Amino acid sequence: MQSPTQYGASWRSRTRGPHEICGLMVPGLGLYLHLPFCPARCPYCDFNSKTYDHGEARRLLAGLAVHLQRIAPRAQDRRLATVYFGGGTPAMLPAAALASLLEGIKRLVGLEPVTEVSLEANPGALSPAKLAALRDAGFNRLSLGAQSFDPGLLRTLGRRHTPGDTARAVKAARQTGFANLNLDLIYGLPGQSVAMAEADLKAALNLEPDHLSLYELTLAPGTPFGHRYQAGKPPLPSDQAIVDMEQTAKELVQAAGLRRYEVSNYARPGYECRHNQATWQGGDYLSLGPGAHGHLAGVRWAYVADPTEYCRMVQSGEEPLAMCEELSREQRALELILLGLRTVRGVELAALAVLRGADPRRIYAQPLAELRRRGWGYIAKGRLMPTEAGLNMADAAAALFA
Ligand code: SF4
Repeated sequence: MQSPTQYGASWRSRTRGPHEICGLMVPGLGLYLHLPFCPARCPYCDFNSKTYDHGEARRLLAGLAVHLQRIAPRAQDRRLATVYFGGGTPAMLPAAALASLLEGIKRLVGLEPVTEVSLEANPGALSPAKLAALRDAGFNRLSLGAQSFDPGLLRTLGRRHTPGDTARAVKAARQTGFANLNLDLIYGLPGQSVAMAEADLKAALNLEPDHLSLYELTLAPGTPFGHRYQAGKPPLPSDQAIVDMEQTAKELVQAAGLRRYEVSNYARPGYECRHNQATWQGGDYLSLGPGAHGHLAGVRWAYVADPTEYCRMVQSGEEPLAMCEELSREQRALELILLGLRTVRGVELAALAVLRGADPRRIYAQPLAELRRRGWGYIAKGRLMPTEAGLNMADAAAALFA
C-alpha cells in the first residue's frame, strides 16, 4: 500500500501556495487527533472507542509522540489553522498528557496565529482546575457531550454524568476562559416524547452555548441499541414525532440566535466549527491516532483502528495505515458536491470546473435539474446551494449525483 508520504511529490506538484490549489482558495491545514478511550462503552456507540485502560493509554501517548515526529514534515511550510482532539473522550486523559501532545504539535508543525484548538469532553470529567490547565495549554474550543438533560434518558444512554454536571462544566469552562463552547445533544431517544425533546433543547439553550450539534439517534448494527430497537417503533419515537422534534428544534435554536450551517450543526455567527467546515470543503488535514482519517490534496487515508496494533506499527517504523487511496478528480468533485449539499455554503462551481475541466452545469445537468425539480437545491452567485428542504433530505439529494 502506498503511504501519504509516497504520494508527497504528487500533491506537492499540485499545491502552489499554502492555501491555494489550481488557483482556487482552499481552507487552512488542519490536524485531527483521535484518542479512543471512554469511561465505558455507551450502548448506542459505533465509534472507534474503548474502555479506558491506564497502561494502554500510556503506550498510546508514547506512540503518538513518535508518530507526530514522523508526520510533521508532511505539513511542509504550512502551519495549522485548526487542531481537533476527538474520540472517544479525549478529555478523560490527564490535562498534562493533553498539553504535552498539543505542545509537540506546536513545536513540530506549528500553529497559525489564530488557530481553533478543539477538545471533546464528557461533562462529568472536568474539574475547574483541569479546565484551567487545558485553557493554559492552548485549547480554546470545548465540545461537551451533554446528549440529554433528562436523568432517565442519560441513564438509558449509558452516560454517567448528570444534567447538573453539564451545567457545572459549562459554568467552569466559561470562568476559565473558554469563549467557544459546543454542546452535543441527541434526540429520538427511547421513550422520548416531543415535549421531552423540547425540554432538553431548552435546557441546553439556557446554558447559552455558542454552538450546538443536534443528532438524531442512529441504530448502528452490532450495538446493543441496534439489537434492542427498531427505528420508528416503540419505545422509539414515531417518524412523525421525529419530524415534529426537528421542527421544534429549528424554531427554538433560531430564536436563540444560532444559525443552522450544516445538517446537524448550529452556531452563533462566527462560531461555526472551522475544523469541520474545512473538511466539508475538501480541505487538507493531517491525522494522528488509531482509526484517524486524513486528507491531503486528493490523497486520503485511515490508520488502523486498534490502539495496540497502531502502536506496534508506529514503534516498528511502519506507517500504521488501514487504507490509503488517491482520489480521481471526478471522485473529488463528487465529494465536494456530497459534502457541500450538507452545508449552507454549498459548493463553488469554479472548484468543480477546475476538477472536472468542464462546466459542472453541463456535466451534472441531469441531477441538477432533478435537484431543482424537487426543491432541494439551486444555483446562485456561482455556487450550488441546498434549500432548507434539501438540507433535511441531504442523503437523498447526494444520491442524485452518485
Ligand atoms: S462517550 Fe461517545 S465515543 Fe465514548 S462510548 Fe459513549 S458515544 Fe462512544
